[in-house]
Amino acid sequence: MSQDTPSSTATVPSASAQPAGQQGHQGDAFANLLHETRTFPPSPEFAADAVVTAAEYGEANADRPAFWAKKARELLTWSKDFTQALDWSNPPFAKWFVGGELNAAYNALDRHVEAGNGDRVAIYFEGEPGDTRTYTYAQLTEEVKKAANAFESLGVAKGDRVAVYLPMIPEAVITLLACARIGAVHSVVFGGFSAEALRSRIDDAEAKLVVTADGTYRRGKPSPLKAAVDDALAHDGHTVQNVVVVKRNGQDVDWTEGRDHWWADTVDTAPAEHTAVGHDAEHPLYILYTSGTTGKPKGILHTTGGYLTQTAYTHKAVFDLHPETDVYWCTADVGWVTGHSYVAYAPLLNGATQVMYEGTPDSPHQGRWWEIVEKYKVSILYTAPTAIRTFMKWGAEIPAKYDLSSLRVLGSVGEPINPEAWMWYRKVIGGDKAPIVDTWWQTETGAQMIAPLPGVTATKPGSAQVPLPGIAVDVVDEMGESVPNGHGGFLVIREPWPSMLRGIWGDPERFKDTYWSRFESMYFAGDGAKKDEDGDIWLLGRVDDVMNVSGHRLSTTEIESALVSHPSVAEAAVVGATDETTGQAVVAFVILRGDAVNNGDATVQELRNHVGKEIGPIAKPKNILVVPELPKTRSGKIMRRLLKDVAEGRDPGDATTLSDPTIMQQIAASLRK
Ligand code: ATP
Ligand code: MG
Repeated sequence: MSQDTPSSTATVPSASAQPAGQQGHQGDAFANLLHETRTFPPSPEFAADAVVTAAEYGEANADRPAFWAKKARELLTWSKDFTQALDWSNPPFAKWFVGGELNAAYNALDRHVEAGNGDRVAIYFEGEPGDTRTYTYAQLTEEVKKAANAFESLGVAKGDRVAVYLPMIPEAVITLLACARIGAVHSVVFGGFSAEALRSRIDDAEAKLVVTADGTYRRGKPSPLKAAVDDALAHDGHTVQNVVVVKRNGQDVDWTEGRDHWWADTVDTAPAEHTAVGHDAEHPLYILYTSGTTGKPKGILHTTGGYLTQTAYTHKAVFDLHPETDVYWCTADVGWVTGHSYVAYAPLLNGATQVMYEGTPDSPHQGRWWEIVEKYKVSILYTAPTAIRTFMKWGAEIPAKYDLSSLRVLGSVGEPINPEAWMWYRKVIGGDKAPIVDTWWQTETGAQMIAPLPGVTATKPGSAQVPLPGIAVDVVDEMGESVPNGHGGFLVIREPWPSMLRGIWGDPERFKDTYWSRFESMYFAGDGAKKDEDGDIWLLGRVDDVMNVSGHRLSTTEIESALVSHPSVAEAAVVGATDETTGQAVVAFVILRGDAVNNGDATVQELRNHVGKEIGPIAKPKNILVVPELPKTRSGKIMRRLLKDVAEGRDPGDATTLSDPTIMQQIAASLRK
């Protein structure tokens, strides 16, 4: 660890160096190794102007359902008030805001126009080739009304499923809200996924309509979408009746008369008046398949009232949103849950102004994001550790060329953010003043669950820290007992929360098995975590990825963080490979920073020693492989299971959700050298 202000990092010896019997809490699922003591309290000015205060925790603890009921009424407009905050009489199937009715699109759009804010900018869109569009709330409302009319005229009714296969363009948000308006259930499939992935998701949800585009741009080149839809629908017996196609990059497309319709001919010509009716609080809002980091994606089902309440509340509280003055930018693709909750829904529910960018961070140059921040004076930026580590690799001199002084809150989501990447984000991007909010949540949780409150919490590099008000998170041992501070275990949620998944589409048994069978009456998230001495929560990686080396359970995250804290390393992924002597051996895959020199064995030895020094000898990787890239999902998460296949000498398994399917070949080639 570098010696950063305000205080430095200390490390402790490995568990193996301690006398027997003092190796921590009985049943610790992870050795508790990496220590971080730097903290950054909010400035007095920030705290004084913060949207929420510490009082929220006490209020929520006193009566969780009552706290959420209050937020639901404060943040949303209900066409019919609810009679009960939570019905938990049939766990794990929760009902929130029983008897209430509301319309998601009305809440995101019409009511802001009715309140006199129709001229406020809802979306600044920046296309990859440099084209721009601006939508005010009044304009976006009109577009959504037209799309709602168009989809209804194509026979889509309440409860029908609509598959969405679009790039990051405003039509994606318009489509989602139009579906929500009429009560149709959207199912977004990443634009980067194959025809096969699209086909299986269309079939699983029995979609009636598909909304797509001719294509998009990726790194300056046109990239087709419609062709994959044609392939996905090439078999008999599918349920799709119509396909609406946005003209985006102008490339040639095949056309099926009667089935295919241009957006311009159906949506743009539809009437601009459409009345939003209220839907039941538990009416299905969408299905979204998880990233597939650990296995076959699951079709997660979210419903309306609770989901909207928690996304709106967390967006406001965690980002300290001041909708009149902030410019918010979440870089997530709409194909990921973050692009649902924190692009399509929460910012609009809260009346915020947001930036939407279609392309990749290096098109046409590696400063593109910072150019966008400067241009729109972005004040809240929400992105993923994978992006931050990529920018670290490219070098601090690139963001230094732009004026980033408008940034006042920085968010992170998707993976643990290594302390070193956190510090870089804070200093280089946040000017050493913008608080960083590391937000832990999942497709299943629907909204943020663990995160600091930027005007309240003293932030700590690498830790997601505290459950949000109204959320009952805990870390438990094998027996489901809460672990004391200073120990690790399994992350669980003890009480139902408003935006919780309501099931796996079409598979209630898998829902119970996956999340509710490991511990009695608790939601099992599948992640390992520890509580530090202050009680702050640290995410330690997937429980499936835990390594067992000579009887010591080691976390992937901690060893990766130790590697990333070395000045030569930009990114690291660690897996446990079967080993005859130690049970499992730590194998690390690292990407070096742009300016680092690879001295072969000497570099590997230096990195091994560095891990030994930071964490302890037990954690030293047996092998360290320098690779050009790491396999990642489209949402930027490292797919360790594929690396484990490589480390154990197998052919890598299912790689269909990889962002770049050639990466496994690149890694194999680099290892043959
Ligand atoms: P699958 O469940 O199909 O394997 P996935 O878990 O990658 O896919 P998501 O729902 O997109 O799909 O990701 C949620 C997971 O991402 C969490 O369970 C956790 O492992 C990780 N994660 C998200 N945010 C954070 C964070 N702030 N810190 C640490 N880990 C995080
Ligand atoms: Mg998951």
